[in-house]
Amino acid sequence: MRHLLRKSAAVFPRPKLPFISLRLLSSSSVKRQETESFAAPDDHYDVVVSGGGMVGFAAACVLGRSKRLSDRRILLLEGGPKKPWSLPKEYTNRVCALSGHTQRLFEKHGIWEHIMRMRAQPVRRMQVWESCSEAMITFDEQYQDDVVAHIVENDVILQAIKNQMPDHVEVQFNSKVDGYDLPQDSSSRVTISLANGKTLSTDLLIGADGAKSLVRQTMGSQYLGWEYDQMGIVATLQLSEPSDNTVAWQRFLPTGPIALLPLTDDRSSLVWSTTKDNAKTLLELPEEEFTDALNRAIWDNSRTDQTVQAVHEKWMNMLDVLIPSQGVDVRQLPPSVSAVIPGSRGAFPLGLGHAVHYVAPRVALIGDAAHRVHPLAGQGVNLGFGDVTSLSETLEKAVLLGADIGDVRELHKYESERQKHNVATMASIDGLYRLYSCNATPVVLLRSLGLSAVNVLSPLKRYIMKHAES
Ligand SMILES: Cc1cc2nc3c(=O)[nH]c(=O)nc-3n(C[C@H](O)[C@H](O)[C@H](O)COP(=O)(O)OP(=O)(O)OC[C@H]3O[C@@H](n4cnc5c(N)ncnc54)[C@H](O)[C@@H]3O)c2cc1C
Repeated sequence: MRHLLRKSAAVFPRPKLPFISLRLLSSSSVKRQETESFAAPDDHYDVVVSGGGMVGFAAACVLGRSKRLSDRRILLLEGGPKKPWSLPKEYTNRVCALSGHTQRLFEKHGIWEHIMRMRAQPVRRMQVWESCSEAMITFDEQYQDDVVAHIVENDVILQAIKNQMPDHVEVQFNSKVDGYDLPQDSSSRVTISLANGKTLSTDLLIGADGAKSLVRQTMGSQYLGWEYDQMGIVATLQLSEPSDNTVAWQRFLPTGPIALLPLTDDRSSLVWSTTKDNAKTLLELPEEEFTDALNRAIWDNSRTDQTVQAVHEKWMNMLDVLIPSQGVDVRQLPPSVSAVIPGSRGAFPLGLGHAVHYVAPRVALIGDAAHRVHPLAGQGVNLGFGDVTSLSETLEKAVLLGADIGDVRELHKYESERQKHNVATMASIDGLYRLYSCNATPVVLLRSLGLSAVNVLSPLKRYIMKHAES
């Protein structure tokens, strides 16, 4: 039996899923059909990466640059058009906090140099606090002898990867995939049908086609996911006073976290997760009123729970005696915002999703096609770049052993390595989200005491930072 899904609404209408908090999409819940074979392929590639977002481009680039895979024909397919690009004067509103692991991957492949030549802002410290108590935690470069992260615009990341793309890797824009014919075992190849009528075949299909991945649906991999009923509002912000702006600020509000990520001395990037209704209201506000609402979200202390506050104060005094502060974990005051850069506001739906299987014969999923997380920990694309590292190393080892790169036994090594890391990260992010969505006094009290204790325990903070940057 071959797994086959053609994306033609007229023939296979996608089932409308009810908006429930948890959904489990299994091979049986996604409509599949056995039909006549695809047309004979017009061309064959050893590897086809489907989806040219940041993760798909990184995969094509890293595989193309691998000495062990240098004789392989690699193709990247992107449904969208090729857009001419030059670095704009004003910062764009989509940014990512790149971790230490991503930096090392990019350094190895010469991508990092391009990013630094364009623009990136180091984060030397991160301060996380909440609106219901005075509890907070800080992460400082001092704990890992390196910066906490770098804030880089998505367009800059993509351009830096494109600059390092080897000539022999083919990139086809305007090449939307319409359907895949996936083999049941490694004895036959993957067939890919494009909306422009072309048909291709490949020994290995890498699905990097984002959260709504057609590759994943065709695989029939179970997908565990839910929507947070939240939007992430993004914008570029003008700060009231220029300063050495290298701190990332995140405050948990009962409606979701708000983060200011540093860009320059007087610019920061906003990621404000809030309910869909609130997001709609905020997006419609005139710029001045939006700026006022944002400053209130960062500064307003009217939600402080007085009972929690009293107990927390005693707890802090006790911690001070038991574990004297080393000076780096003290509270700093966040910046205030003077304006939102006109036209920079945007909003994106937020959800969580995880494919139970990342691989099948001759197929591997990477990036948001395999997993999607809430942006509160700035991990989404970093997990995707981690997939790229792991998959490229797995394929290189397979080639060294003389194995077929589409052999599912080899691909399973990639799956188990990544799932160990990704599932743990996703569970922590979702746990944090839930912990801070609650206003009940006992919960606020417990999390406040816990957070303040972790804040003074340097080894534990080092451990948390190590996991986040790997
Ligand atoms: C508000 C917000 C803030 C975030 N902040 C951070 C952060 O600070 N740090 C971080 O690590 N992550 C962050 N993320 C997450 C990050 O943006 C995503 O994880 C990342 O963009 C996923 O990249 P991707 O390449 O896997 O998928 P995508 O960016 O979704 O790319 C998929 C590509 O596949 C193409 N495609 C889809 N279907 C087809 C098809 N049938 N044929 C051909 N092409 C196709 C699409 O055109 C697209 O280009 C944030 C997300 C949001 C919403």
